[in-house]
Amino acid sequence: MSVISDSQNLREKLVGYRRFFHIHPEIGMKEFETSMYIKEKLVQLGQEYKEYAVTGITVRINGTKGQGKTLLIRADIDALPLQEKNDVPYKSQTNGMMHACGHDTHAAILLGVVEILNARRNEFSGSVLLVFQPGEEGFSGASKMIAEGAVGDIATPTHDAAIALHATPAPVGTIGSKEGHMTSAADQITIRVKGKEDMGVGLTCL
Ligand SMILES: [Zn+2]
Repeated sequence: MSVISDSQNLREKLVGYRRFFHIHPEIGMKEFETSMYIKEKLVQLGQEYKEYAVTGITVRINGTKGQGKTLLIRADIDALPLQEKNDVPYKSQTNGMMHACGHDTHAAILLGVVEILNARRNEFSGSVLLVFQPGEEGFSGASKMIAEGAVGDIATPTHDAAIALHATPAPVGTIGSKEGHMTSAADQITIRVKGKEDMGVGLTCL
């Protein structure tokens, strides 16, 4: 069995997780129900976890092949203050809040990663630190978790490398990657694009 077939076998379950998160969106640092749901799933997997910054969660999975490096995998879990206009069975049930950035997908994916790595811990050395991060949308959730020691001392973190992903409305089966930093935002800029006519298009780069 490959990791790919493991993932395919989890498809239905992960779609269920994603839809739960989508139905129950919560904005930055108030992801109480979201966090509770994640913890519930971790308990079902027999997985221990730690909590930081109230709604943040970390899970460490140690490989049984011996000592080694630590890889951090992070997913953000917060929604946005937007009204959902889609008419789907899993439409947001919270007025004025919506998972419009895909963090519902990220959280569901990370739960899938926990399940697969947990089942395959005898196949790798070192460990994987999985981080469910609250408050990505302007609430400094990562800083708050770091300040509480989620990844050790900032100068000497407990991990050797970190990765994350972000969903994008590209065709299914398409991915993009880049070495180094990607989709990080320490600041926001607004630009005005002028064509033949000034359409007044404002782009916010996040
Ligand atoms: Zn996002």
